[in-house]
Amino acid sequence: MKILKIKLHWQILIAFILAVLFGYFIPDGVKYVSWIGEIFLRALKMVIIPLVFSSIISGVTSMGDGKNLGRLGVKTMFYYLGTSTLAILTGLTMVNLIKPGVGIDLGFSKTVEGLTENTGSVQDIFFRLIPENIIDSMARGEILPVIFFAILLGFFITKTATKYRETLTNFFNAFFEVMMKVTLFIIKFTPLGIFGIVATEVKRNSGELASIAGSLAIYSLTVVAALLIHALVTLPVIVRFIGKAKPYEHLKNMAAPLLTAFSTSSSSATLPLTMEALENNSGVSNKVSSFTLPLGATINMDGTALYECVAAMFIAQAYGVELTFIQQMLIVVTALLASIGAAGIPMAGLVMMTVVLTAVGLPLEGIGLVLAVDRILDMLRTAVNVWSDSCGAVTIARTENEETSVAVN
Ligand code: ASP
Repeated sequence: MKILKIKLHWQILIAFILAVLFGYFIPDGVKYVSWIGEIFLRALKMVIIPLVFSSIISGVTSMGDGKNLGRLGVKTMFYYLGTSTLAILTGLTMVNLIKPGVGIDLGFSKTVEGLTENTGSVQDIFFRLIPENIIDSMARGEILPVIFFAILLGFFITKTATKYRETLTNFFNAFFEVMMKVTLFIIKFTPLGIFGIVATEVKRNSGELASIAGSLAIYSLTVVAALLIHALVTLPVIVRFIGKAKPYEHLKNMAAPLLTAFSTSSSSATLPLTMEALENNSGVSNKVSSFTLPLGATINMDGTALYECVAAMFIAQAYGVELTFIQQMLIVVTALLASIGAAGIPMAGLVMMTVVLTAVGLPLEGIGLVLAVDRILDMLRTAVNVWSDSCGAVTIARTENEETSVAVN
């Protein structure tokens, strides 16, 4: 039983290595384990709709009673959407420059169906955001209309009479808590899931193993490089020039929450530390931090957004699929929405990968390709998520004329 005590990322690594060996040396045995991967993917898909739905409503209702939604709310939303989009564009540029997946050629390009019917004009993409029938969209697992509806519902919950508002806010918070627990339970089975998926993929692509391993390393470096550019260049520029504050001083103040985010891979779990460090070290008022941070922990995930985009592009490259400009834009939009919908818990970004892949019609099995390094990259992207929340709080506090302790004099 001791093996169960090893940290999840080690378990995943061990499962990955065993799966590669198994798929390579005992290909005939793969048919006995591939069902495990199948079940794991089904379980991930099972939680997406309820998790995203409750996560967004709980995030939006945490904005308070609607009075807050004035200037502060507009600024916060502007910052969240703006920085997440910048993060995605950084990832998109890097993945197009480095092209980590090109050359793997999984030889599935012909079997990638639905690519054309899943992409339309930009106008179509916006039309598809609005569900004709929300239950139908949920049943089909169409995430974008569900996110749209959840934002609307959350917003109007904050606008109703106190009695109803409290009931519904509590209900969705409770539902969200439970869904996070269910998801974390499924995530515990990742080593088994990874074993089933990876063994199957290795058997199918045994001739390509060396090039896949090489590409996976380059892919990880692409994600890390893009995350670092976003965290150490883009965000500091915003803090310095819009917030008129010292970004690297602020970075030092945030050491504890950032390290916690890195080691727990959970923005939600890190939230109390993020609030404490912002108020006590960087001198942001409780008014700004209590408004921006809980919301940020669920919907502002720059690192996750960037990661979704790079991973989807990598998978497309590996399958030899050339994505058009419109398709890449669809990835940008879905990566943004996926990051908004992702819960602040370990590997939520992986759950949301299915959404981005489905949107452009890429095969879900592609997840098997990035699964092995997901847990490690999760640590870094979570730190970037928390870092962006904290930069947002400082920037917004400064534009509200708060002094803070990191202001440029
Ligand atoms: N673990 C990340 C977070 O908590 C979400 C993700 O998986 O990308 O912020």
